[in-house]
Amino acid sequence: MNRIRKCISCGSLKKRSELIKITKDKTSGNVILMPDSKTFGRSVYLCYNQSCIDNAFKKNRINKTLKTGADINKSDVYDLLTQDLKGTTDEQFKS
Ligand SMILES: [Zn+2]
Repeated sequence: MNRIRKCISCGSLKKRSELIKITKDKTSGNVILMPDSKTFGRSVYLCYNQSCIDNAFKKNRINKTLKTGADINKSDVYDLLTQDLKGTTDEQFKS
């Protein structure tokens, strides 16, 4: 299943697997970055790039869309970005 989702920052439509997912868990109310398939709740999607993350935080879009006051750590989201880049770099070094 690879449905098309919309980035809350730039509005571009991408495959779900190409976006960062942030979900507010329906039962606990916790906000989870890249949740597993067992987590259900309202979700937002962001592109894997710094400007989309920056914009979403600047305009407080994540909290507004999720209707939460949760303190989402921007550096946690950035970590996802660097992990992803690291993966790419490793691949390049191998060849
Ligand atoms: Zn975007």
